[in-house]
Amino acid sequence: MNISNKIKNLLDTIKDIFFPLKCECCHGFVESVGLCAQCWNKIMWISDPKCSICSNPFELDIAEICGICALKRPFFDRAVSVFHYDDCSKGMILRFKHMDSTYLCPQFACWMYRVVEKYIKEADLIIPVPIHFRKLLKRKYNQSELLAREIALLGGVSYEPRILQKSKRTPQQEGLTRKRRLLNVIGSFDVAKDYVHLLSHKKIVLVDDVYTTGATVNECARVLKKHGAEVVTVVTLAKVVLYWKH
Ligand SMILES: [Zn+2]
Ligand SMILES: [Zn+2]
Repeated sequence: MNISNKIKNLLDTIKDIFFPLKCECCHGFVESVGLCAQCWNKIMWISDPKCSICSNPFELDIAEICGICALKRPFFDRAVSVFHYDDCSKGMILRFKHMDSTYLCPQFACWMYRVVEKYIKEADLIIPVPIHFRKLLKRKYNQSELLAREIALLGGVSYEPRILQKSKRTPQQEGLTRKRRLLNVIGSFDVAKDYVHLLSHKKIVLVDDVYTTGATVNECARVLKKHGAEVVTVVTLAKVVLYWKH
């Protein structure tokens, strides 16, 4: 072992003593960034059977698409997510979004890449859901941009954060009804004029952190398609899952 490796090991040991890694869910000690074994088992990963458009899980494999997608087809072609947005996953997502826990980005992006890999392989562009520049000033970074950049690197696909813009500031979506959310986002996104030519007949992967009602990503997909995009695949880290009454 050379001297620089010895120094690195020593620094790692000091870091582990003074800044031990904690599980993102229960805050117990862990050896690497992420979750402890117990919390890993508590995460509700999204798997089949599920709606082939919005990925809402089904209890039984009896339908191709869910009632909501059947009632009104979204503008996006499909939306895939890694896990349920619930009490277990909520904390780490909120820390990533609002509390500068950007060290979580590579792990999150890795998971997202795995669920969207099939579509990334045929994609032309990766685009993040933008936030209004005033919000960006307040928050310092857009979590969807960080995820999209990392996913683009993993897939070797072009990353273009300037095409889609949040042109109109909208009230917080959190706490609003499904209908209000849909109305809230209409007309709030636009495509930058200088980049319109990049969208024609392109297959896009649109990246966001959480899929709640799908209103935001649907409006983004509508705008992208209006300007020529051929396919829009949405990937989010988490999804608010709807439970059907039987
Ligand atoms: Zn844990
Ligand atoms: Zn659906």
